[in-house]
Amino acid sequence: MNVDALKSLLETFGPSGREEKVRDKIVELIKNLVDGYRVDKLGNLIAWKNGTGPNKKRILFDAHMDQIGVVVTYKDENDFLRIEPVGGIAPQVIYGMRLNFDGTIGVVGVERETSEVYKENLKNLDFDKMFVDIVTSNGPNIEVGSFGVYDAKPIFAGKKVMSPALDDRIGCAMLVELLNVVDNPYNDLYLAFSVQEEHSLAGASVEAFDIKPDIAVAVDVTASADTPKADKRTSMIMGKGPAIKVMDSLSVSNVKVVELLKRTAEDNNLRYQMEVLHMGGTDAFGIERTAEGVLTGALSIPTRYIHTPSEVCNLEDANEGVKLMKILIEEEITF
Ligand SMILES: [Zn+2]
Repeated sequence: MNVDALKSLLETFGPSGREEKVRDKIVELIKNLVDGYRVDKLGNLIAWKNGTGPNKKRILFDAHMDQIGVVVTYKDENDFLRIEPVGGIAPQVIYGMRLNFDGTIGVVGVERETSEVYKENLKNLDFDKMFVDIVTSNGPNIEVGSFGVYDAKPIFAGKKVMSPALDDRIGCAMLVELLNVVDNPYNDLYLAFSVQEEHSLAGASVEAFDIKPDIAVAVDVTASADTPKADKRTSMIMGKGPAIKVMDSLSVSNVKVVELLKRTAEDNNLRYQMEVLHMGGTDAFGIERTAEGVLTGALSIPTRYIHTPSEVCNLEDANEGVKLMKILIEEEITF
């Protein structure tokens, strides 16, 4: 995994619907490694590399460019802002946090007229009771409709990385890395860097309609149940390899794709684990229901503290996932 590429993607502003800067960065990283690329009307970046096999299939790997964020809904006479989450942000996670509105930085405060109100508000934190206080003055002017994200820097420590937006810049970095390592593709490789996964899955639905792949795999993060008193119904853990998704709350992966991923990992001695997630969902849900239907699965990187400013994952899991994708592109696939 190219750590510099991942770091620069993690540091780039890109909430759902405002992915342009992330897309520009990815174009720079991949433009010399592909046979072609285009940007569709919704903003998805679609890139491809042609295969040479006589029985080649069209394989799509997808990762979403957008990250969770907030949008400004109201600005009072003293310029304090009210906000609404864009994607899954819990109010408990952002009290006291810095938010970055594409260069302008603010902090999240809470209403506290009396000690009793303050205590009560902390106990039942809600966006109704919180506001943003813009502190810096050198960024863009903030108004109703401005988007913000967590303001926190990525930290790399050995195999671990901690950062906001690992969901799903780790997936984007894996797709970029795949282009760097794939040689002589047997199958047609399509990569989609999608928009708006955290909000509506709109990007995934239209990209798959456009590409019409034989097989699609969404590459994203999933829960990691290896912290004190973690979710006992979840078995994915960091460091055990990428997880082959069987099901989440939005979709059941196609059984042929699950078996293909499993068999490929086993035949090549790659580490993997199985994933059943009793919540959440990925671009796989948008892809599978497109056109006449798409054989779709997902490959997930177990990640702690998802949707907080400090998501943590293991780079080895991502590297192992890239190896698996490389084999799928370089070998003939038979069902
Ligand atoms: Zn995601």
